[in-house]
Amino acid sequence: MTPPDSTNNKPGSFDRSALVRGLGEAPARLTDLVAKQAQDQGHALYLVGGVLRDLLLGGGSADLDFVIESDASAFARGLQKRYGGQVHAHKPFGTAKWSLNAESADRLGLPLDDLPQHIDFARARKETYAEPAALPLTMPGSIEDDMQRRDFSINALALSLSPKARYGQLLDACSGLQDLRNRQIRVLHERSFIDDPTRILRTLRFATRLNFEISAQTAGWLLHALPLLGRVSGARLRNETKLILAEELAGEILLRLNDLGALKAIQPGFYMPKRLASDLKRASKQAPPWRSPDHDALALRWCLLLAGCEEPVARGIAKRLDLNRRQTDSVIATCRIMAIAEELADPRLRPSEIAPRLETLPSTALHAGWLLLHDSSAAQERLRLTMQRWRTIRPCTNGHDLRALGLPPGPRYKQILKRLRGAWIDGDVRSCAAEQALLQQLLESGEFAPAVQPGARLL
Ligand code: ATP
Ligand code: MG
Repeated sequence: MTPPDSTNNKPGSFDRSALVRGLGEAPARLTDLVAKQAQDQGHALYLVGGVLRDLLLGGGSADLDFVIESDASAFARGLQKRYGGQVHAHKPFGTAKWSLNAESADRLGLPLDDLPQHIDFARARKETYAEPAALPLTMPGSIEDDMQRRDFSINALALSLSPKARYGQLLDACSGLQDLRNRQIRVLHERSFIDDPTRILRTLRFATRLNFEISAQTAGWLLHALPLLGRVSGARLRNETKLILAEELAGEILLRLNDLGALKAIQPGFYMPKRLASDLKRASKQAPPWRSPDHDALALRWCLLLAGCEEPVARGIAKRLDLNRRQTDSVIATCRIMAIAEELADPRLRPSEIAPRLETLPSTALHAGWLLLHDSSAAQERLRLTMQRWRTIRPCTNGHDLRALGLPPGPRYKQILKRLRGAWIDGDVRSCAAEQALLQQLLESGEFAPAVQPGARLL
């Protein structure tokens, strides 16, 4: 679809067939029904944001975002009453998510598989920023106010769907159409990055994904605001970084942020290894030879991202970005694997010396290690053995058996059982009988004193 002609502040137009072509029949029909509800109730309703940008660029989009110049949660509940589904409203921001299910698809008369899982409504709002990098104060506003609070001109487009008389008008108060044609990322005003430094990350995300230039003025303002990244909350930075990690070109985006100095502005020591882009690509193409029931694609990407850092630095970044416990543990474990990479590949070290260092680590870290150590088949093999064999090995003997032998309980139990298990891991014993012989030998040797009488019955 080519962008409709529009000059600044003059709405262009957009016909319904363009929506059908871009969104597909069922989402376009859903949009019609939502528009009809707003028209019947006399609310001004707009389709906004990324979906329009992507439609105008000739692509499709899964997200449907609507802005309404009235109470969004009441409007969504009206749709729920008529068509079913679930509504989750977030009062402080005046937003509501309408989730669709089989019943609602039925009542809408549309195939569930062709519909988005949910659609988002937001009340048109105005924002003011009390101080740099803080969350804005919001209040109800007009659609123009709502466009002015957005990040980039290309995301500040709105398609009017209600009232009926304005259906199809494209609002382009920030010259987003022109920037789409010129393939440019441009923020809306000089203080944009000061108000919200997370837009620095968003700039590189969209510029890289769309292969757009960053306008010279925007680039200047962006550089100026870099130090303010240090003042943004961990949760907001984590959220934007998570969106980057979900991108196909995540590695390229992060490298650009690295080269700009944005990562070290977030946290000193945060840097991007050059190989990250290829590691992330490998992660989406290759899987280790074991099955991980608890595979967590996002945690894996955090591991790849931070694996190049020394452990204390990685820990500091995980804390700064407020990663959850599971992600942090996986990241730290990956750093540990990388720190012993040479030992993993060293044939002089026996499996029983390696296994204890790997087997208690989270499986996501072993997965990350396997991807990162792709040029060392010996190290990869030991990671595989950890997951597929070593972790499940248990000796035949247990504490009760040692007790039955008259061995007083104590730390020796653990040492003896560890030794027996190590012999299995090394392949030195392969049967319970062989294990028993080894146990006899160990006890008689006096190594695990006090020694039992030679010849005493063991099991
Ligand atoms: P996509 O979902 O394809 O990555 P999108 O444009 O929908 O792109 P989202 O991150 O989903 O991006 O955000 C939705 C919309 O919300 C954006 O189009 C933008 O207008 C607005 N927005 C999101 N984050 C910000 C921000 N930090 N500052 C201003 N506007 C924002
Ligand atoms: Mg989106």
